Amino acid sequence: MLLEVKDLHTSFFTQAGEVKSVNGVSFELNHGEILGIVGESGSGKSVTMLSILKLLGTTGKIISGSVKFNGRELTNLTKNEVEDIRGKNIAMIFQDPMTSLNPVLTVGYQLKESLKRHKIECDYQKRAVEILERVGIVPAETRMKQYPHEFSGGQRQRIMIAMAMICNPDLLIADEPTTALDVTVQAQILDLMKELRENFNTSIILITHDLGVIAGVADRVLVMYGGHAVEQGTRHEIFYSPAHPYTHGLLRSVPDPENFKERLIPIEGQPPDLLNPPKGCPFAMRCPQAMKICLEKLPAEKILSDTHRASCWLLEKEEALKNV
Ligand code: SF4
Repeated sequence: MLLEVKDLHTSFFTQAGEVKSVNGVSFELNHGEILGIVGESGSGKSVTMLSILKLLGTTGKIISGSVKFNGRELTNLTKNEVEDIRGKNIAMIFQDPMTSLNPVLTVGYQLKESLKRHKIECDYQKRAVEILERVGIVPAETRMKQYPHEFSGGQRQRIMIAMAMICNPDLLIADEPTTALDVTVQAQILDLMKELRENFNTSIILITHDLGVIAGVADRVLVMYGGHAVEQGTRHEIFYSPAHPYTHGLLRSVPDPENFKERLIPIEGQPPDLLNPPKGCPFAMRCPQAMKICLEKLPAEKILSDTHRASCWLLEKEEALKNV
């Protein structure tokens, strides 16, 4: 097991009060596995990842829970210890590469800087050329001398992946890496991620609001809503036997390439206010199948198979529902 997150709770302390962004999230990730984390904006998917890397700024705090990476607990590490792991063992890429690339430094300089910062012993020039070629930026020797603005959006995202991969991390976290790209470039970036997993056995967490993005890439899928992990399972389980009404809703809002005439059905309503989170199911106000119990009590996680679990009162047997 590479990563084990258990009962993670993270909050932000704002002037308006405590925003409970992540509420008891648990999941695991194996070596060489691609996990897709899906949910709409504010579902807690990005904050979960920022908690792992302790990138919560001055207002965010892990309230409780455990994050084990290669068996080592990360939540109680110092800033310096986490900085050492970040970039070297766990790398992260974001939607907009320009937020991470320095516009006044050449791509080659920035790639080599990463190796220096993490004291990786190797021929910097050779390693930078190798990794740029690997992500399809050629001729690498020439292109290393160029600045970020001289590349297209898709190429910049490839450069970000090269920067993330140059220290050969065990885990790559990609937060909406393809959202700003057109569909062809998006498909190329996703193919590149699969190649990285195949060639380097890198584990990847792919965060997205769009289930369609992870349909052809993820081995397993975690669905988040209102700061909770509401369902998780293999890609097949999530796409072919979803158990949670929110997952059903997400699937209905993904276009079917074989049936363009079919109308997409958006999920009506707004996500819950995490300043005043509901005491029952976080999805209750938007769920077409909500029952009285859903407004009053948070459903427990139900184990549906070795790999599939979901939290919904509909999964409880009628008998059990009478007693709650
Ligand atoms: Fe809907 Fe109730 Fe299930 Fe929540 S627990 S998803 S409100 S049926």
